[in-house]
Amino acid sequence: MEIKANEISSLIKEQIKKYHHKMELLDTGKVISVGDGVAMIHGLENAMLSELVLFNNGIYGMVLSLEEDSVGVVIFGDDSQIKEDDIVKRTNKIVEIPVGDNFLGRVINPLGQPIDGLGPIESNKTRPIERIAPGVITRKSVDTPLQTGLKAIDSMIPIGRGQRELIIGDRQTGKTAIAIDTIINQKDQNIKCVYVAIGQKASTVAQVVEKLRVHGALAYTVVVVATASEMAPIQYIAPYAGVTLAEEWMEKGEDVLVVYDDLSKHAVAYRTLSLLLRRSPGREAYPGDVFYLHSRLLERSARMDDQYGGGSITALPIIETQAGDISAYIPTNVISITDGQIFLQSDLFASGQRPAVDTGLSVSRVGSAAQIKAIKQVSSNLKIELANYRELQAFAQFGSDLDKATKDVLNHGAKVYELLKQKQYASMNVFDQVIQLFTAKHKLIDDISINKIQDYEESLLTYMHSKQKKLMKDLEKNKAISPELEKELLEVIKEFTKNYLA
Ligand code: ATP
Ligand code: MG
Repeated sequence: MEIKANEISSLIKEQIKKYHHKMELLDTGKVISVGDGVAMIHGLENAMLSELVLFNNGIYGMVLSLEEDSVGVVIFGDDSQIKEDDIVKRTNKIVEIPVGDNFLGRVINPLGQPIDGLGPIESNKTRPIERIAPGVITRKSVDTPLQTGLKAIDSMIPIGRGQRELIIGDRQTGKTAIAIDTIINQKDQNIKCVYVAIGQKASTVAQVVEKLRVHGALAYTVVVVATASEMAPIQYIAPYAGVTLAEEWMEKGEDVLVVYDDLSKHAVAYRTLSLLLRRSPGREAYPGDVFYLHSRLLERSARMDDQYGGGSITALPIIETQAGDISAYIPTNVISITDGQIFLQSDLFASGQRPAVDTGLSVSRVGSAAQIKAIKQVSSNLKIELANYRELQAFAQFGSDLDKATKDVLNHGAKVYELLKQKQYASMNVFDQVIQLFTAKHKLIDDISINKIQDYEESLLTYMHSKQKKLMKDLEKNKAISPELEKELLEVIKEFTKNYLA
């Protein structure tokens, strides 16, 4: 076949036209398919991972997967407004949210927009929501306590500023309650708080916000909300948005507490996204990088060295288990990332032991370095005593004839458990905790009948604060119990106990 010269030139022209077309595809693209909050885009060849992209009707999205000839984008908005063949543009920016002090006391969505109806939030700074965690050199070890105000935790599972302590348990075992009590207990402690609610009911979150407000904790707290009705992409970025707000304060040398409530639902949102993006499912249908999802989030909590500002981010991630199974995929992942876990048992919760902390399975791997000496002195034997108690309790069910030593251990254990019960929104100052635990250490509670323990401990505190101000001052000043103070306290409290029993 003969080819004419003008035909060749037209072919070449066409090729050149196509080449230009290809150039345009570097920074723009076209929607191939869309649905369930995810769009596949042809083009966007220069796009970066986590880059913000703009659809032609003003909706934003984030690049979450880069493939050879397409890009997967998650949509932050109503995906029903996006059609096939719509144009998508790069913004050259990683997803960012506004940060700053003006966010305190506010409820926002993960994009930094207020949803509390209190008007716009002014901010002159934004930060990318994904960031590499501080390196080893810039960190130092945990040395300052972060008190939860809960006896069962501050005594046996202490948390330090910069630590990551997991709260794990079945549904309705008081997980959120512990986190909220901890936030409330940070009043006047110079700590800012971020509460991230992921995949919860809007009504539950509204209650939490109300409780924070009533207890005066909202003033130093930001609430980041992605409710269960929100699309998976919004739920997915929520914890990263939360830690981004916290990082701004940490870099200024401030201490921040972040609660992620909860990361099980976060993992589920990510699984949804991954499956929609056609990534291959692995164990429990989660994608292979689900570990990295939580490790890169929790690594951003740190205690910075003084040279680098000395700020800190303490993280309290929450995980919900199914029937107490802590060996499922997501629970084991997060347990291995964090510096310890507070394990809540539904049996204990149902029997009225609240907070339902399982003292055997709970641990804090770094927090005791940050505990004040006084509380260490009164609680060093607590865990062992309770373990002994539980062991003998199982054994005593079979025998009726128990020797005195066994009876004593059982009696003491039961009383200590009773002492560790604590209502919600009744957080206790650490020195008050020391006084109460002191009565357990010296077995003064063993003679009090079990239903009187709470009343006895309350009366004791009232007595100490009104009649023994000097001893309390001494304790607060030295943060430790000297041998002399120990003797005096013992005398005074023994006397009080005698009068109480009479
Ligand atoms: P979910 O799985 O639904 O998120 P959760 O584990 O976060 O539940 P919470 O919502 O904190 O549990 O608590 C469940 C219920 O138990 C709530 O009604 C709460 O008020 C109550 N509760 C929690 N802690 C205590 C406590 N220390 N004393 C008395 N009641 C408590
Ligand atoms: Mg909860």
